[in-house]
Amino acid sequence: MPSELPTRVHIVEVGPRDGLQNEPEQIPTQGKIEFIQKLCAAGLPTVEATSFVHPKAIPQLADSGDVMSQLADVGDTEIMALVPNARGLERAIAADLKRIAVFTAASDAFTQKNINMSVAKSLDVFSDVVAGALAGGMSVRGYVSTAFVCPYAGEIDKSRVRDVCEKLIAMGCDEVAVSDTIGAAVPKDILGTVGHVLESIPLDKVALHLHDTFGTALANVYAGLQLGVARFDASAGGLGGCPYAKGASGNLATEDLVYFLDRMGIETGVNLERVFEASSGIAKVLNRVLPSKQWQRMRAIVPK
Ligand code: MG
Repeated sequence: MPSELPTRVHIVEVGPRDGLQNEPEQIPTQGKIEFIQKLCAAGLPTVEATSFVHPKAIPQLADSGDVMSQLADVGDTEIMALVPNARGLERAIAADLKRIAVFTAASDAFTQKNINMSVAKSLDVFSDVVAGALAGGMSVRGYVSTAFVCPYAGEIDKSRVRDVCEKLIAMGCDEVAVSDTIGAAVPKDILGTVGHVLESIPLDKVALHLHDTFGTALANVYAGLQLGVARFDASAGGLGGCPYAKGASGNLATEDLVYFLDRMGIETGVNLERVFEASSGIAKVLNRVLPSKQWQRMRAIVPK
């Protein structure tokens, strides 16, 4: 284990995709675009903007093509979108994306319910998607959901997680997002499972995607930092949950993560106030209070 924590962390903002995908009321395309642009202006180095999933599967993201074509002023931010299959890749190519993400899990029970195939089958499907993306000059991230606990199968063996990560890297992904989909992990799990993954995969290819269901997300960030992990996903305002994982609350909030890292003296390049402004904009569209502790605190002290 490295004796010193990383001095800089790369935050992958997943709010516009992972955060908004479960919102039942259709959000106007323009509201999504403004949200993304404000997140870019806040200095987030990567923003997952949307998903090229079939419109019927996730109606909220049916306007992904329009979001991408109307997106401007993203500055230096790298825009990424989720791609579930060959058709999604065609749409991502048409949208001129440079980075995509594919989504599998460490639990067959989860992928069966979620994408209606086994983990092995999903890796088969994705190997073609990844090959196509790489041939088109894109880079690819791979999500490994339910890397700690699956809502259907319980605790997941760390060797299983490493195996899926290795297969994603072997097919050409440059990053695996080891994901605590239902937020059930504690630092011991991070040290055990991610430590095991890091025995075969380089540090700069490993990201952590955490949820705060039980209030353990920042403790898990700290465990990841202790392992040297320097790439973390977060969702502005703490938006999102998981449609296939009952009881899963929001993603780790970007504001909470940025506050924590700022106070730890770890650079992110992200401006907390501007993330708050972005979240406040989408909170207005959604007409509700967001779960992030920092967002709520700032909302109380910042004149509206
Ligand atoms: Mg999530």
